[in-house]
Amino acid sequence: MSTEDALLPGSIIELHPKDTAAQAGLKKLREPVPDVLVSPLPKPAKWQTDSDKATWVHCRVCGTKHHSQVVHLSYVGHAATTKLLLDADLMWDWAPLAYDDAGLPKFDATGGLWIKLTVCGKTRLGYGNADKKNNADAGAREKEVIGDALRNAAMRFGLALDLWSKADLHADDGVEDGTGAPPPPPPPKTVEHYHADDFKKNLAAWAKLISSGTKTPEQIIFTVESKGRPMTQDQKIELASFIKVTNTGSAS
Ligand SMILES: [Zn+2]
Repeated sequence: MSTEDALLPGSIIELHPKDTAAQAGLKKLREPVPDVLVSPLPKPAKWQTDSDKATWVHCRVCGTKHHSQVVHLSYVGHAATTKLLLDADLMWDWAPLAYDDAGLPKFDATGGLWIKLTVCGKTRLGYGNADKKNNADAGAREKEVIGDALRNAAMRFGLALDLWSKADLHADDGVEDGTGAPPPPPPPKTVEHYHADDFKKNLAAWAKLISSGTKTPEQIIFTVESKGRPMTQDQKIELASFIKVTNTGSAS
């Protein structure tokens, strides 16, 4: 059994014997995304982005520097989306909805891009956008827009739909409420921890991911906890024990 299989939830969508190859491919896109292909995406509120950068921390969840209270969302990145599209249909393709006079993809007035995504012969529209970042390489924004449009169009096929709906719900929580004020702390809740049996079942696969440096314990904890079950302190310590210590003494 591969690592990915071990991490897959049990709810694989069943195929009917009469399904065509195209239908099989389209159904495959709707299967739950393996945890190894899910990444944490920092979603800072405006007050956090505007806060004093000297107080920011190096985050072990996403690997970037940001305010210590930044919330992360689970998302499937451009490369992982491409892998899942290929798994469903080796011939998948995309094209811009419009071209400019030079024959290049036509970005709209705000820099966004509409695309057509074709998988298993079925075409659906998607839209991507991205903010311009200072110090970014030339063309980096355009590449991000294309990746965003692909992820958006793939969502119309059902790819990672549960993650998108959680992200949308999260946006409604007022994380980025534009008032510039820190959100009030959430009310205390009774905690139901991640079940010990599930932990035991996944531990071997996680140990492999951590010791190979593919994932940090924080990334695995994030993915598990984003499904609503916090890990116990003991479970977190056990995950951390698989970090391979290098000769210099720093964990990789
Ligand atoms: Zn982070």
